Amino acid sequence: MSHAFPSSSTALTKPAARASGLTKTYGKGAARVTALDAVTVEFTRGRFTAVMGPSGSGKSTLMHCMAGLDPVTSGSARIGGVELSALNDRQLTKLRREKVGFVFQGFNLLPTLSARENILLPLRLAGRRPEAAWLETVVTTVGLKDRLAHRPTQLSGGQQQRVAVARALVSRPEIVFADEPTGNLDSRSGAEVLGFLRDSVRELGQTVVMVTHDPVAAAYADQVVFLADGRLVDELHDPSADAVLERMLAFETHGRTT
Ligand code: ADP
Repeated sequence: MSHAFPSSSTALTKPAARASGLTKTYGKGAARVTALDAVTVEFTRGRFTAVMGPSGSGKSTLMHCMAGLDPVTSGSARIGGVELSALNDRQLTKLRREKVGFVFQGFNLLPTLSARENILLPLRLAGRRPEAAWLETVVTTVGLKDRLAHRPTQLSGGQQQRVAVARALVSRPEIVFADEPTGNLDSRSGAEVLGFLRDSVRELGQTVVMVTHDPVAAAYADQVVFLADGRLVDELHDPSADAVLERMLAFETHGRTT
């Protein structure tokens, strides 16, 4: 495809994002919780990574720290080679607008705007003009061409999430973070959305990191990283749903016997 990522300013070999010895604690004294404990992980450019782990293992915290939504306690979080802790609030906001796309479980669309207006909102907020050809590519990839004038309430859950995926892709971000993107969808719509996320990686060269509980969803990814108690404990490449499930069960068994 002619309109592929990444932007020419970044070297192909650099990871899209990297955590190095990333530690995050919440609270003080006896109430102190270590949500992430020296996590080192690379999100390779043009790959689809799923982050899995039991509830409370640090998945959301990792995503929030990597997206610059939550400051790290120690260690490093980088997006496209930029150290997030070196940025002030204004610079962080700018980086999030320009380099990061988000897809949330609850879609987070504005109800009074059409699908097209929702998709273009991040660009408008950044004062950037949409590139017509790229918009067309993104909208076609997520299969929304004939739904652009619809409001969110006139769309199914799956279609709303496809609008959210298009919104995340349209600014050509360095990386897209998706937090349980299929959590509110039936399995058919979920499969569609996962297919579009995978297409955005395979066909458009996007980098996607997705938090999920679901082994079937994780099997759409190129690699799966597993967190447990704030630590990175395993990695699986080219995963099948069965292989993911097997690893999950292994951790549970391990957790019970130790
Ligand atoms: P997951 O996404 O895997 O369910 P989280 O990243 O939400 O895990 O949480 C990891 C740990 O950090 C948990 O013990 C959680 O209770 C704690 N935690 C997360 N956010 C906060 C917060 N804002 N304040 C205090 N503790 C938090």
